[in-house]
Amino acid sequence: MLDEKETLILDVRKAESLHGHLGPFLVIGVKMARLAKKTLNINGNKWLDLQVLAKLPLITPFSCILDGIQATTQCTVGNRRLKIKNSNGAITALFKLKSQDKALKIHVKSRLIEMLRKQLSMGMSNEKLAWTIADMSEDEMFEVKTDKALLENNSMTNVH
Ligand SMILES: [Zn+2]
Repeated sequence: MLDEKETLILDVRKAESLHGHLGPFLVIGVKMARLAKKTLNINGNKWLDLQVLAKLPLITPFSCILDGIQATTQCTVGNRRLKIKNSNGAITALFKLKSQDKALKIHVKSRLIEMLRKQLSMGMSNEKLAWTIADMSEDEMFEVKTDKALLENNSMTNVH
């Protein structure tokens, strides 16, 4: 059995191969997807039932998050299980298991984005920052909501 760290590295490498390069925002997407998988208890073919609504600024590097999510969840633009909306700054993703009425909303802490912005402007390499993000705890990175209200108020079709 691979441990958590080893599967994380595999997921990061898979995302890198889809995305074409390795960077911290790609890894944020990978970790959002992994957290959703863990929290929603997804394994085996339950993946086929997962849908994602991602809201973030649709410019790089923020949009790199989308490829992290696509590579790790197999919810893609092409299979219509990933929906994307532009935002002015906030970065969130709603993960929803259709048949089971389970949902999880992950918000990326703005403090984390500020830290990355600063490090990148100081010339820190994308690769190095990617592994820094890989090593961070989910608590440091995300705020998570799992309440029932998500399902009622934020269905995939009417989220704004
Ligand atoms: Zn990128």
